[in-house]
Order: sequence, then C-alpha cells, then structure tokens
Amino acid sequence: MTKFIDVSDLVTLVSKVGVETFLQEMHDYIRADFLKWPDFDKCARTAAHSDVGVIELMPVANNERYSFKYVNGHPANTKFGLSTVMAFGALADTETGYPLLLSELTLTTAFRTAATSAMAAKALARPNANIMGMIGCGAQSEFQAIAFKEIVGIQELRIFDIDKEAVQKLKRQLRMVAPTLNVATSDSPEDCVRGADIVTTVTADKAWATIMHPDMVEPGMHINAIGGDCPGKTELHEDVLKAGSIFVEYEPQTRVEGDIQQLPADHPVEALWKVLAGTAQGREREDEVTIFDSVGFALEDYSALRYLLDKATEHNIGSDIELVPKLDDPKNLYALLTARQLTNAIAV
Ligand code: NAD
Repeated sequence: MTKFIDVSDLVTLVSKVGVETFLQEMHDYIRADFLKWPDFDKCARTAAHSDVGVIELMPVANNERYSFKYVNGHPANTKFGLSTVMAFGALADTETGYPLLLSELTLTTAFRTAATSAMAAKALARPNANIMGMIGCGAQSEFQAIAFKEIVGIQELRIFDIDKEAVQKLKRQLRMVAPTLNVATSDSPEDCVRGADIVTTVTADKAWATIMHPDMVEPGMHINAIGGDCPGKTELHEDVLKAGSIFVEYEPQTRVEGDIQQLPADHPVEALWKVLAGTAQGREREDEVTIFDSVGFALEDYSALRYLLDKATEHNIGSDIELVPKLDDPKNLYALLTARQLTNAIAV
C-alpha cells in the first residue's frame, strides 16, 4: 500500500511534532541529502506555461528513492477564490518504482523553503548574526521567521510589506507562535534592513522588481533572496548581486530562474552543497556580503517527502491507499476486472 498524506493529516502531524521541531528535523534531512549531492540524478524543473499561469514538474532521484513535485503558479486564481500556488508530490522506491508516499506539498513547501534558507544562512551568515530584516509578510513569512529563530538564532526581527494588513497578520501570528522573538514593524524597506545581520526578501511580484538596491547593502550582511524564482521575476538590483559572493542550489536552474538571470552567464557563483560539504569556501571575511539566490530545488522536496514518510509512519498518521494494483500473478492485470465481473455475476 502507498501512504497518503492530505492537508489535514499534515496539520495533525505538525501539531504532534511541534512547528520548531518539525522545521529543525526537516532541516537535518535536507542537509543530509545536500551532503550526498553527487549521488543524485538532477535536472532543472520543466514548466508548462499558459496565458494565465504555469505548471511545473520537479523530479530528482538517487539509487534509493525517486521523487517529484507538481507545483503551479496562477496569479489570477484569487479572483475565483482559489490559491495561486498549490503543490503535491510523490516518493518512490528507485529499485522497484513502487510509490511509497503521495502527499500534499503546499504547506510542506513553506517548511522546506524556510529550512533551506536557514541552512544556507547558518553556513554563510556571520556566526553571531541575531538581527534579521524581512521584506515581504505573505504566506512564507511566518515559516521563515520561525526557522531563522530556531535554526540560526535570530532574536530580533524587523518586518516590512507594502500591504499593511500582511504586516499586522505576521506580527499578530508571531506574537502567538514565537513570543520570544522581538518583532518590530518598519516604515520603509530601508529602515527594515538598516543594521541587520541578515536580510530576507520574500516578496511576490511577477516583475523585474528591485526590493533591495545597492544603498541598502551593509558590509557583512547575508541576503536570503527567496522571491526572485522564475524568469522575469527578481528582487535584487544587479549591483547588489555584484557587491557580494553568490551561492546557489542547482546552478543550471538558478541561472534561468534566480536573481542571477540579470548577470552574464559566466558571473561566478558557488554551489551551496559544496560549502556544506567543506569542499568550497563560504564566507571568507567578516565584512563580506553573502547572497543565497534561492529558487527552490527538487532535492529539498525529496528530503521533505522522506521526512514526511518517516514521521507519519512513526506517528501512525495518514492513510494507506491502493494506488497501484496488488496482483497474485503480475502478468494477469485483467484478473482485477474478471474478479469484479465474477462478484457481480454471483450477486445477480
Ligand atoms: P505572498 O503573495 O503570500 O506574499 C508576498 C508578499 O510580498 C505580499 O504580502 C506582498 O504585499 C509583498 N510584496 C510584493 N511586492 C512588494 C514590495 N515591492 N515591497 C514589499 N512587499 C512586497 O507570497 P509567498 O507565498 O509568501 O511567496 C513569496 C515569494 O517567495 C514568492 O515570490 C514565491 O514565488 C517565492 N517562493 C520561493 C520559494 C523558493 O524556494 N525560493 C519557495 C516558495 C515561494
């Protein structure tokens, strides 16, 4: 049988494990898989564009497991009362192809994105970093804030958004779920990042946006750029990128989707996995500016699915579904139909 985790199963699982532990443990799974980077068969996600949106498929595999995520982006969906981004995915046994898990991944993606951001910041930010400025207070923002508090040790968070209601939502929610985090609202993006050790940009605008311009960059800052994640959608001014050392997930994908799409194709970037593995240099100086140009890579979803399967099994959450036929004779698929016909005939 294949395990199935729907949205309410996931909510039950997170409430049993606790948000902080869930983030920390998912981070540990992602880190462990990044350390095995060369073992994976990787590719950039494929995108099916239409006039109103995009549907993407994100596969990855090693000798043990195969996974994929289906994720869309339809900005106009809110007009019909639908979400703009939705995701689900599967984890399979590579040796047999047997699907082990089918799961929701919309909520899970927020966890894995925050855990990956925190993993990068832990490797690249100054070790004593404790103040973060965050521009963008939408769906991802609570997850980012909690991950940085838990995993990186952020104590003070300054927040800004052009939508004042989003700012108040984030402040209210963090007061409830992370009461020890000192949260302050800012009047401008410049105020938000002034004096911050880490800057997170997590805005959504399908445009060549400039959320951070060069005057906002201070020596030693780590920039966690989340929202520039598809062609024609950026957050950092080109000169911000040129002012720092850039770290990426899977370079062929980030060159097309990340903020570095603005730079010449030969502008140097470093692979995050190599820094984690200790085979490439991360931050070299206290005053160096480091930039994580995040776009979200399939391996993070693979790790998230692996974690969900282990944790859901441990807590006996989710259901077992007959996603693929169980046959007495694998060569007799038709037997599934004859067995039903026989039952119907007996009933008549
Ligand atoms: P969201 O729509 O819920 O929130 C985005 C927020 O950005 C909104 O509150 C909006 O008002 C604000 N915003 C837009 N323009 C702004 C500006 N110029 N200045 C300040 N605030 C501004 O979106 P979300 O789900 O929180 O996602 C945020 C971004 O992260 C999106 O671009 C999404 O594509 C991206 N994302 C990246 C990854 C990754 O792995 N890198 C994963 C998930 C989401």
